Amino acid sequence: AGRKKRARVLAANKDAARFYHDYLKGPGGQRVREYIAQRQISPRTATRFGLGAAPDQWDALTKALTAKGYSKMELIDAGLAVAGKNGGIYDKFRARLMLPVIDVRGDVAGFTSRILPGEEGAKYLNTPETVAFKKGRLIYALNFAKNTKRPNLILVEGNIDVITLHQAGFDNVVATMGTALTEEHARILARYTKELVLCYDNDPAGKKSTDRVLGILKNADLNVRVLQLPNAYDSEGKPLKQDPDDFVKRFGPAAFEKCLNGSAGQNDYRLESLLQKHSLADEEGRMAFLREAVETVASLQSPIEREIYGNKAAAAGGISAAAFAQEVERYRKNRA
Ligand code: ATP
Ligand code: MN
Ligand code: MN
Ligand code: MN
Repeated sequence: AGRKKRARVLAANKDAARFYHDYLKGPGGQRVREYIAQRQISPRTATRFGLGAAPDQWDALTKALTAKGYSKMELIDAGLAVAGKNGGIYDKFRARLMLPVIDVRGDVAGFTSRILPGEEGAKYLNTPETVAFKKGRLIYALNFAKNTKRPNLILVEGNIDVITLHQAGFDNVVATMGTALTEEHARILARYTKELVLCYDNDPAGKKSTDRVLGILKNADLNVRVLQLPNAYDSEGKPLKQDPDDFVKRFGPAAFEKCLNGSAGQNDYRLESLLQKHSLADEEGRMAFLREAVETVASLQSPIEREIYGNKAAAAGGISAAAFAQEVERYRKNRA
């Protein structure tokens, strides 16, 4: 029964994706088409990613799919419709840019959607958890990225980041649905690549997510690197939010490729963030840096890595490698 229900949900999703895509191409899709153009997504890319438009109506999709034989319950099960009062249902997604989320087998698992400029409401709205839409294991664009010839996969925050990077020639870019990466995501990614490059937004939220994800990836069978986008500033010198989509539009694919080639290994990245966090100019900052660096280096499983990064941290903190190594071993003993 579970399998049959899932097949029905997938069929409804596929019909919905086609409905939204057709709507995008027709007269009702003009606003979304303009928004897609404004994001510099070409019509060809839009078609490749199956982008669509949800009509600015309460029940356009519900009517179309009911006419195709889907029951109200099936549309609710798929997350495409929501139960209203007095037994009716209405469309979950209205007046939005629709992005189908294709699973690795090529089925439409569900949707994410973006609000149009000038409208009120949640910027992004996803399909709720359904039999087919499991956020903890879906990886956006893995159906394309699994065929890449590049030596790694790049993990970004946003679906639009994925789309514009693919358009710029990076066919190895993927995203989770939101920034919460699970151990299951890590296991799946490890099946398709040996190396994962994290490229989250260059803002405090993105940095925080990067640190959290590095923690989760510790036990994964993956080489991990971090591509930290450079800071950007407006004309008054105020820092600008910069995500991969913004970056590749401002500076082009070659500049992104350069950042990719220069991306740091995860251990260098960790030490680098500790150096940024603490002011080494004063004694207190230096001690705080060293304390955290000891913890970080002590957490490395390989003695070779502990020596390499221990030496780097000691040099940065201005103490001898021997003293640092002693602290690390003491810390490990106390933890064991
Ligand atoms: P855009 O470029 O479209 O304006 P953004 O870069 O500002 O979006 P972020 O806030 O960086 O978007 O979010 C990155 C990603 O996180 C989004 O693409 C989306 O997948 C997810 N996300 C953000 N906000 C929400 C939300 N309220 N609900 C679900 N997912 C969200
Ligand atoms: Mn962000
Ligand atoms: Mn963005
Ligand atoms: Mn962003």
